[in-house]
Order: sequence, then C-alpha cells, then structure tokens
Amino acid sequence: MTRTALPAKGRPADEILTELKDFSAGDPDYKHGRLWSLVYYLDEDYADFLGKAYQQFASANGLNPTAFKSLKRFENEIIAAVAELFHGTPEVCGVVTSGGTESCLLAVKTYRDMARAERRVKNPEMVLPVTAHVAWFKAAEYFDVKVRLLPLDKNLRADVKKLKGLINRNTVMILGSAPEYPHGTIDPIAEFGKVAQQHKIPLHVDACVGGFILPFIAMNGREVPLWDYRVQGVTSISADIHKYGFAAKGASTITYRNLNYLKHQMFVYEDWPGGIFASPALLGTRPGGAYSAAWAAMQYMGTTGYRDLARKTCKALDALRNGIAKIPELYVMGDPAFVVGPLLAYGSRDAGVNIFAVGDQMDAKGWKINRLQNPDGLHAMITAQHTAVTADYLRDLKAAVATVKANPELAKSGSAATYGLMSHLPLRGMVRSKVLETFAAMYRAGGGEVDLDAAHETPQGGLNGLVTRLAHWVSDVAAKRQHRQP
Ligand SMILES: *Cc1c(COP(=O)(O)O)cnc(C)c1O
Repeated sequence: MTRTALPAKGRPADEILTELKDFSAGDPDYKHGRLWSLVYYLDEDYADFLGKAYQQFASANGLNPTAFKSLKRFENEIIAAVAELFHGTPEVCGVVTSGGTESCLLAVKTYRDMARAERRVKNPEMVLPVTAHVAWFKAAEYFDVKVRLLPLDKNLRADVKKLKGLINRNTVMILGSAPEYPHGTIDPIAEFGKVAQQHKIPLHVDACVGGFILPFIAMNGREVPLWDYRVQGVTSISADIHKYGFAAKGASTITYRNLNYLKHQMFVYEDWPGGIFASPALLGTRPGGAYSAAWAAMQYMGTTGYRDLARKTCKALDALRNGIAKIPELYVMGDPAFVVGPLLAYGSRDAGVNIFAVGDQMDAKGWKINRLQNPDGLHAMITAQHTAVTADYLRDLKAAVATVKANPELAKSGSAATYGLMSHLPLRGMVRSKVLETFAAMYRAGGGEVDLDAAHETPQGGLNGLVTRLAHWVSDVAAKRQHRQP
C-alpha cells in the first residue's frame, strides 16, 4: 500500500522502524554478491559501525565551515589523506562533496568560470572521451559547455592522437578517467597531460570509481598506468569515498593542484538580506553525517584495510577475466594493461549468441547485471565481496551462453529485444524522447505504485526498471519496421 498523505497522528517509533525493514523486501539482494553495481557492502558489523558514525553528526551542518569546526576538521583530514594518496604536493586542496556527480559538475563550473575570468572565453567547450561518465554530459547541459567528443581506438581506449584536433581557444578543460565506467579502462592520462600542458588547458581526472582502489592495487604490486598528480598536466581529481572508500552514501571529494583553480569553484553573494553568503560547493546545507561516516570509514580501513579489499577485488577480477576468456563465444573488452580493476565488461564474438539474451538468462538465475551499448555488452563492478561468488557466476554464465546458442530466438524476446532495439535504433532522438516520456511518467503525481510494479518485473538497477514499460513501444516500432520491409 502506498500512503497518499501524512498520517493524521504521529506513529510510534518502533512501529516505523519495523515498517522500514519491510520497505527493503523488494530491493536487490546486495548482501550476497548477486548485484554487480550500485552498492559497496562488507558485512552487518561494518554497516552498523558506519550507521553509528553517521548518526553522531546527522544533524550537523557543513554549510558554514566556521560554525561546525568538527565538520571542517573531517573535511581537512579527508582532503589531506586524499592529496597524499594521489601523490599531490602540499598545495593540493579541495572539498568534500555529496557524490561523484557533484564533484564532476563542480569541475566543469570551475574551469568554465576560470576561462571566463582569465581568457574571456564566451562559448566554452570541453573535450570528453566518449566513455566519460554521464555526469559530465549532465554538467555540459547544466552549465552550457559544448562537448567535443574524443573517440576510442580499436581497444576501446580514448584515442590520444585525436586530442589535439579537438582543442581550440574555447576549450576550458580536458577530461580523462581512471578508470572509465563502461569498460574499466584507464585513459592515457600521461599523454593527455602533455597535450594539456602544451595548450595550457586544465586536465581533470575522473577517479570517482578508481580513487579509493587504484592506489592500493598499485601498492599491492600491480602495474597501474600513471593517472594522479604525478602527471604534471593534471590539475584536479574527483574521487568518491562512497564507492571504493566504503563510506555511507553521500561522500566524494574534488581536489585541485592548488588554490588558484579551487577559488573559481567558490560562490559568494555579498548583498543577500539574509547575510553575506559564501559557499565552496553545490549544496547549501551539507550533511554532517556523510562527513563523519566517510572520515570514520577511512580511519577504520587505513592503508592495510584498503589494500586487503583491493587484493580481494583483483582476485575476483582475475577469476572473472580468466573464466570469461575460457568461454569461446565471449570476449573481455579493453586491453588488460589498462583494465586493472575494479570494472570489467564483456561481449559476444559469436553472431549466434546475443549478449543481452545472455543477460536475461543471468537475471533468471538471480544475478543483477548492467547492460552496455556501443558495443553491446554486460558489465561487472567488482568488489571484495564478489570473490566468494565468481565460481557460481562463471558456471551460470557458461550455461547461459549455451542456452542462448541453442535458442537464438531468445534474442527477440524478453528485455534482450528491448535493449537490442534501444541501442541499435538509428533514430537516437526518438529513443531519447521515448525514454524521457517513460521516465517522467514514473514521477507523475501518484506514480509510485507503477514504479514498484515495474521494478518487480525486472529487478535490476539503473534504467532497467523502465524496460518492461518500454517493451510495448519497442514491439510497436519493430512491427512497423517489419511492415515497411519488402
Ligand atoms: C560513479 C561515477 C561518477 C558519478 O558518481 P555518483 O556518486 O554516482 O554521482 C562519475 N564518474 C565515474 C567514473 C563514476 O564511476
């Protein structure tokens, strides 16, 4: 039952807490390694610890850094640790934000305003590899910065040879990722750095997913291509604590090589009747609990804890990579020298095996796996927790491939048909407006019930909950296309 109004009378706390537990009944099972995205989970004890750390500062507000000295201290210590981890000089400075998206949005705002102030750039542009996280495309739209897309080479790595050709006097920043989300590839940051320095353009490294694991993978002795402040051209880095830092949700960082960059991120309004106002980041009220939990997570783990998690994650990564390589119909995307974790993507090299149909088979076995497009594929965001399930996963994957190979018609049913059409339909504007329409409908007044039902039919993350509702449209489009064919 969805409640449609505030209860007339307040309810007892224990009754509410019990009901909260019921709310999670239909959510993905992230505690047993079935989910391959969205959640970073260790165990109940650790979750309790984070909750307690969060609770102590849940009401504290980081809006005004001079009011809650505790929060500013958390922030200082978090930023100092991150700067050191990324081999920054003592000048590296930064801000704790609410998440990766806020960190990415801020970088775009900062460099746009810096170019305005220092070079009078009126029509700002930035260079993004096509694999840049969607947050960057959101930033482009929000802040009206034109995107110049850097294509990939045949190994799905950003093609640095084409970078120079995309830079002009309006370029306010270049982006590289460590690693990029779709295939887990570390962009050629050292080469980007040279170009950035030659052209005197800021280079941001999006290490939202990699920031709290790549340093520890390297400490454990694996070759990791250079991506941090050791690369001279790198001017800023975003790194999420609520991903591989294992903090509670709502904590990321953005650091800059020095204050000359960061100052362009600041907002000041001196004429407000409510008082003179200054703010370092996007949010007004900043959640104290997210800060204390992030700080607590980093203190709890320390270098040894994060190294241990990185070791287990790499073990799961290796097991998956080797296991998938043994399934002749599949291939792992990217060049292993640049895919060092924690993400992995794979596709089909057999025209008779539709990878989305393989995904449907995996769903049916209780796995929750994200889909990729251009090229079509399946995705794994690997955590230490997955070490325990890689054998089961690979066994099910092998069986799924065999089933799809024996029943190629599976590609035309289930969510495979929807994903197939959605990613291959040449009319991208039409796909965009259909997704927008369907997505917006989930937010119409009283739309919650529908949302839950859809999620129940396709219990996956991301946009996948839309799949059921888009299926009708897809079968319509498919029917019309067939009709038109001679
Ligand atoms: C997760 C991620 C982001 C966005 O972070 P959120 O915390 O989800 O807002 C940005 N960039 C990369 C590479 C990411 O993996």
